[in-house]
Amino acid sequence: MTVEGIQKVGVLGCGLMGSGIAQVSAAAGYTTTVRDVADEYLKKGIAGIEKSLTRFVEKGTLTAQQRTEAMGRLKSTTKFEDLADCDIVIEAITENLVTKRETFAALDKIIKPAAIFASNTSSLVITEMMTATRRVDRFIGMHFFNPVALMKLVEVVSTITTSQDVMDRAMSFAASLGKVPIRTSDRSGFIVNRLLVPYLLDAIRALEEGVGSVEDIDKGMKLGCGYPMGPFTLLDFVGLETTYYIANIMFEEFREKRFAPPPLLKRLVLAGHHGKKTGRGFYDHSDPTNPKPLF
Ligand code: NAD
Repeated sequence: MTVEGIQKVGVLGCGLMGSGIAQVSAAAGYTTTVRDVADEYLKKGIAGIEKSLTRFVEKGTLTAQQRTEAMGRLKSTTKFEDLADCDIVIEAITENLVTKRETFAALDKIIKPAAIFASNTSSLVITEMMTATRRVDRFIGMHFFNPVALMKLVEVVSTITTSQDVMDRAMSFAASLGKVPIRTSDRSGFIVNRLLVPYLLDAIRALEEGVGSVEDIDKGMKLGCGYPMGPFTLLDFVGLETTYYIANIMFEEFREKRFAPPPLLKRLVLAGHHGKKTGRGFYDHSDPTNPKPLF
């Protein structure tokens, strides 16, 4: 079921997150146009969408016809103008405030005035992007999780000027994508990172203080709390440089010790040990099936 008043969806950026958002939007029945800066990114993103939809067909959760219909609702472009009549535009471009502000300012002039603008940013201040536009009551955050096609959660973020009607419609829109939306406000980290980041940083501090080894702390949180993975496994999966970057932004925002990145995290990032993607973090991932703890 699509949401009243929303028929056409625009997505900015066809990378990891943008392609996922475009996929769930087209699969949910919305005419979806995704814009990236060059055809090569669009081609790669669209190919990824088709592959992911095919996996759902193989699993039996989607029919081959539904896949064909979803692909048929998906358009890709490098031109802003092709998004002009969208009812909602979700931005998932590179995490850079200047680029995002420039993009929103340009879009504001082209896209119909009633349309809602949403940013998928993980760490930037929504209000700071919003002020590049004149639609201060129709600007929100919609924070999806990776991989978008599988992760159920969307944090729907209001600013001090977002209208109640826009928040309600964005919540219904996220639900219509098959997601579970939660409401939050424009504070660095929103709900999930606000609680998750200090927990991950505390695990590193516990390690530094000799409370336990990487392996024992991970086992402790997995078996003692029923978490699907321990903090160090999660840190290596997310990427240490990503956690370091977000922690710094949150520390800057709140000036509270619990958000301050511990020295060991900084050293690992400086050394280029970013976790799974670089083969080394808190674990050695040379054998991906059997990561070996390094501390
Ligand atoms: P990505 O690098 O995979 O994709 C970004 C895409 O945006 C690229 O294809 C790039 O060519 C394109 N792009 C750059 N400038 C553009 C412009 N002006 N117009 C249109 N396209 C443009 O990045 P990503 O991981 O998909 O992250 C995108 C956003 O989502 C960031 O704001 C990030 O903070 C946020 N986010 C990421 C994750 C994650 O796990 N990766 C999770 C939640 C939110």
